[in-house]
Amino acid sequence: MEKFKLDYKFVESLPNPLENGILYISVSFRLIAHNCCCGCGKKVVLNLSPDDGWNFTYDGKTISVYPSIGNYGLKCQSHYFITKSVVEWVPKWKDDRYRKRHKNWSFQFWK
Ligand SMILES: [Zn+2]
Repeated sequence: MEKFKLDYKFVESLPNPLENGILYISVSFRLIAHNCCCGCGKKVVLNLSPDDGWNFTYDGKTISVYPSIGNYGLKCQSHYFITKSVVEWVPKWKDDRYRKRHKNWSFQFWK
């Protein structure tokens, strides 16, 4: 799949529905939400936590999210990094390695 760039918005609370292609960052609720980057439209919510969740960096222009986002609870099974707002897909053959390295595959989604 192609690399592409996401937009971002810092929000207090999440709008409903989310717009595709936008990362919604709520610092007060400590989460980042977006519609799955594969285009399946499922909402993916990442908990921001230094211990067992995700972290992000903001350089004033772009957002990077760590670690990668593996949507194994979704039908699409998509897996990608968001680095400087660019979505980079993880090749299938690398998936097992990443799965072992990251214990925190937990994510929540609605719908
Ligand atoms: Zn998807």
